[in-house]
Amino acid sequence: MDLAAPIEEVKGIGPKTADVLHKAGIFTLRDLVYHLPRDYEDFQQAQDIASLKPGKVTVKAKVESITTRRMRRNLALTEATLRDKTGAIKVIWFNQPYRAKQFDQDKEYYFSGTMALSYGHYQISNPSATLASDYDKALTAKIQPVYPARGSVKSQDFKKFMKTIENNIALIPDMIPNFEGRAEALFDVHFPETLEQARSGREYLATEELFSLLLAARLNREENQKLHTEPIKGDMEAFKAFIGTLPFKLTNAQRRATWEIIQDMAEDIPMNRLLQGDVGSGKTMVAALSAFMAANAGFQTALMAPTEVLATQHAESLAKLFGDKLSVALLTGSTKHKDELKKHIKNGDVDLVIGTHALITDDTEFSKLGLAIIDEQHRFGVMQRQKLLSKAHTMPHLLSMTATPIPRSLQLTIFGDLAVSILDELPAGRQPITTKIVSPNSTKQMWGAIEKELEAKHQVYYICKKIDDKGVSELSSVKKEVQKITHQFENYNVAYLHGKMKPAEKDEIMTLFANGEIDILVSTTVVEVGVNVPNATVMVIADADQYGLSQLHQLRGRVGRGSDASYCYLINSNSDAPTRRLREIERSQDGFYLAEVDLKLRGPGELYGSLQHGALDLRIATITDTKLVHKADMLVKDFRKKNYDMVEYKELSDSVRKYQRLTTLN
Ligand code: ADP
Ligand code: MG
Repeated sequence: MDLAAPIEEVKGIGPKTADVLHKAGIFTLRDLVYHLPRDYEDFQQAQDIASLKPGKVTVKAKVESITTRRMRRNLALTEATLRDKTGAIKVIWFNQPYRAKQFDQDKEYYFSGTMALSYGHYQISNPSATLASDYDKALTAKIQPVYPARGSVKSQDFKKFMKTIENNIALIPDMIPNFEGRAEALFDVHFPETLEQARSGREYLATEELFSLLLAARLNREENQKLHTEPIKGDMEAFKAFIGTLPFKLTNAQRRATWEIIQDMAEDIPMNRLLQGDVGSGKTMVAALSAFMAANAGFQTALMAPTEVLATQHAESLAKLFGDKLSVALLTGSTKHKDELKKHIKNGDVDLVIGTHALITDDTEFSKLGLAIIDEQHRFGVMQRQKLLSKAHTMPHLLSMTATPIPRSLQLTIFGDLAVSILDELPAGRQPITTKIVSPNSTKQMWGAIEKELEAKHQVYYICKKIDDKGVSELSSVKKEVQKITHQFENYNVAYLHGKMKPAEKDEIMTLFANGEIDILVSTTVVEVGVNVPNATVMVIADADQYGLSQLHQLRGRVGRGSDASYCYLINSNSDAPTRRLREIERSQDGFYLAEVDLKLRGPGELYGSLQHGALDLRIATITDTKLVHKADMLVKDFRKKNYDMVEYKELSDSVRKYQRLTTLN
């Protein structure tokens, strides 16, 4: 069977199922084969109920009792008690009412899922269930794949489909020349005999995926080198004079980055540079200097930021910085007299336009856009970036900025020759942020210290993992904490912020906070993005052990932006000894160091969530997988050296084209 064949050709996939799968982006046999298991169950690891510990567990037990309740909004909650010789444990299933009729109470089943504390009791949530006798008589393979469900198509269904096309999988040809073993790898991933087999199969597929990505990036670079644009060459004397008027001395890192940018812009190949700088390292100033240079050479600059608050903040601070030297305008959704402003942008009266997505609406036109800057670039998609670039008559120079440090070790392998400037130095005079790990049972001292800060008219962030108390875990929630804190600090203004609020509401709260009208802001991680509130001196992160190092570091970076001493309290979710991750963040404030540690501690996978899922769309591999990246890189080099003709590799070129669209930055 041809990999490009429609899934309807697979026995067992009728029109209804096909519909569901189409919605999930699964159209061809190839798509189906690449719907990989998210996990495996190894029932040989079953434990006695009495010896279970929180985390992933498998038990072999009988169902002692089971009931289903209808809850609000048509939710069905099925609760059961499992029992083996050693004890009993509760399990729950959400929205799987069929579970109530699934079990024969005289028979044993394997249950596999995650055990956690919920309202003071341990329970296993949404476990899988397999009749033990089937398994024990080896009717099924020793290792069972667990597929991510797609709508009504469950893991079990995917298992059946894969079984149906087992013989086809075994015959799949390699996609990349000189990289053998694809069929075997796919086979091992879907039908492994050992976990090790599954892992090595997955490694092959990850390398294959990275190959497409790296090849795409390389082709893009080659194409980029062929593009032409207008060089931006301003007057260096005027530029130096302007630097002399700045309210502070540039850091060495800022100087270096600015110099690199100015040199790039003076070329007739469009610049494509990523400015990476830890939170608070002063990226905005580098952007401002680049815009100054562009204006000086007669070009306009567009600076796009992800939120209205941030755009407004940039516009205000840069208008002040430039005085009458540059005309700065703000263009966001709520800008008044938009049409008039757009006229000024179109006829070139405005040098620097700062805005949100409003910048890329169809009727925003520039007279001579030479430089496009994207702040917090990981928050934007490819389409948005391209839309911004398309506002210029020729390809403009592009400067992307991000605060997500990419460890140096990774930069070398993946971003090899992408132009990257790094701000690895904080402006002088910053006070270090005193960071303390707090046990949940002893927060009294922390609250005392917070009260002192509030009395000194400083402001406080309080970050929670969840919005409300729905769901199973006992983590802190915004709604609950707001109540407690409002009660505790009656004389202060307490407000909350979370991702489910309307953008206008969020902006309003953020603005009030930035203006000092809110004393304590209880929020989810939505505050993570770039807003500068120098008067905020306390950051409390509840359940801090639930976050990655880089994220903790980003959150902490919201404070310590002024000249006052700042504090960050990391409240552990339990009274166990703090994890290595928390201890590292307590002792270091170097974002690059922490990113390296994160990479080591968590391994590939979680570090660059946004990079890989948003921008790079890697499904199997992660860019932090340096070993595989290296391997893929070698293959790509070989591929280019041998001058293979892409036309002969249809599947590969389709896959590469997808990544080419995604990686114009790299
Ligand atoms: P980020 O890199 O996180 O975007 P910002 O550009 O918001 O950082 O800068 C953080 C703060 O540091 C701002 O208040 C800015 O005015 C200030 N700043 C930037 N560069 C310097 C410098 N060289 N010396 C002192 N303060 C600086
Ligand atoms: Mg910033």
